[in-house]
Amino acid sequence: MVDVLVIGAGVVGGMIARELIGYTSSVVIAEAREDVALGATRANSAIVHAGFDAKEGSLKALLNVRGSKMMKKTAEELGVKYKNNGSLVVGFSDEDRSTLEELKIRGERNGVPGLKLLTRDELVKIEPNIGETVSCALHAPTGAIICPYELCMAAVGCAMDNGAELRLNFKVAKIEKSEKGYIVTAENGETVEAKYVINAAGAYSDEIARLAGDESFSVHPRRGQYMLLDRDSGDLVSHTVFRCPSKMGKGILVSPTVDGNLLLGPTAEDIDDKTDTKTTADSLAKIKASALEQVKGINFGKVITSFSGLRSVGSTGDFIINSPFEGFINVAGIESPGLSAAPAIAEYVRDMLISMGAPLAKRDDYNPTRRPAHWFSELSVEEKNNLIAEKPEYAKIVCRCELVTEGEIRDAIRTNPPARDIDGVKRRTRATMGRCQGGFCTPYIVEILAEELGIDYTRVTKFGGESYINISRTKEV
Ligand SMILES: Cc1cc2nc3c(=O)[nH]c(=O)nc-3n(C[C@H](O)[C@H](O)[C@H](O)COP(=O)(O)OP(=O)(O)OC[C@H]3O[C@@H](n4cnc5c(N)ncnc54)[C@H](O)[C@@H]3O)c2cc1C
Repeated sequence: MVDVLVIGAGVVGGMIARELIGYTSSVVIAEAREDVALGATRANSAIVHAGFDAKEGSLKALLNVRGSKMMKKTAEELGVKYKNNGSLVVGFSDEDRSTLEELKIRGERNGVPGLKLLTRDELVKIEPNIGETVSCALHAPTGAIICPYELCMAAVGCAMDNGAELRLNFKVAKIEKSEKGYIVTAENGETVEAKYVINAAGAYSDEIARLAGDESFSVHPRRGQYMLLDRDSGDLVSHTVFRCPSKMGKGILVSPTVDGNLLLGPTAEDIDDKTDTKTTADSLAKIKASALEQVKGINFGKVITSFSGLRSVGSTGDFIINSPFEGFINVAGIESPGLSAAPAIAEYVRDMLISMGAPLAKRDDYNPTRRPAHWFSELSVEEKNNLIAEKPEYAKIVCRCELVTEGEIRDAIRTNPPARDIDGVKRRTRATMGRCQGGFCTPYIVEILAEELGIDYTRVTKFGGESYINISRTKEV
């Protein structure tokens, strides 16, 4: 019997687990997949929204604005890259200008500070590459960017460092009421009994609710496709440049990432399949056309990859955070701005548990901090040399595009939550994320994984399961 079971290791489940472990050392995180951060948290726009978009009085508005205020400190504590770059919503017509005025009023009512309407002249001064036909903009100085999967991994890692248990490949298939709480069973037969269950299963949160007997809402996937440009394109703009929102969402954006790339997208396509993350030529062409209207001079020869993510669109139009049964909490329909709101959602859930009578008391020994994942390149030359003298594995650069050392790859396999496959190493260290997309460094990463995990290199997988990539050597080394 544990105190709390969190279902889903996305950024929302991860932040909730990190918050709760500060109050009880008995937390289990159950995740269906082979690693954390593989749902919507892996593929999104990575924006910490200022909070002017969500409807006044909604949970989305409340938790977005609060989360945005909390994010800088949260990122500092967890050693996650965060940049307060500010955002711009650009308009092309008088009609767009009226929309921007409405957004400004809504944002002010939501409590967003510093919103300002800009003329084209004012805009060009701060963003010289803004599109030729852009005529006005709404500036939100509190908008920011962050790495979403890094935030999730750091939150889960921090929870684990403080005593939480992560159960991977635990796909919840049955939820039964027990005398003191719930017995939750995975597809593979493993069980966890918990006094309190938090359903943070993203796109599948409606299915988890149904397993517990709650049929009050549904969640459908809305796909968003992206193009990512190489690092030398990241300084084309400094702000995140949105266009006026529509009923399908915030529209295409052009934004630098915290790692210096340029991100274009997402599209908004309602689909039925909760696993369909393909990209299509049609949608990528739409992104290209829209992005070029917003920002001039984008060099599409610099695109290094395209990808897509699925928003969890809830049937109520707002975040669904409720308790349909004693000891069971839904955190569902967490579409955008779920990343921005995640730290505030975690506090909100903590307070719900306390109001239900959960025995949560602040732990004196709780440590909210964690070492950054990419830290070697940030060291001074002297610090690097000292470290290399002690541990020569930091002298060997494995990923030349992203300058990732062997030492950092070994650390990723040794620290919470540990990497177990090539994609796990990639998300933790950025190795294989550069221009060559792993063409040069993958064989070295396979060797390191095999050695650290004590397995043959043919057993190393790309993303768990049976995703083996080596059959045999062509040449002995
Ligand atoms: C295209 C796109 C753009 C976005 N842009 C932004 C943005 O710029 N800013 C912003 O604030 N938000 C943005 N969002 C929203 C944000 O990404 C999400 O709100 C957030 O990632 C949701 O996190 P989550 O933990 O709820 O869900 P997820 O990350 O999907 O995690 C849910 C987890 O539950 C697991 N799970 C599912 N079923 C089971 C089961 N049966 N048993 C155990 N585990 C299970 C899944 O495997 C998954 O790991 C965007 C989303 C998308 C898709």
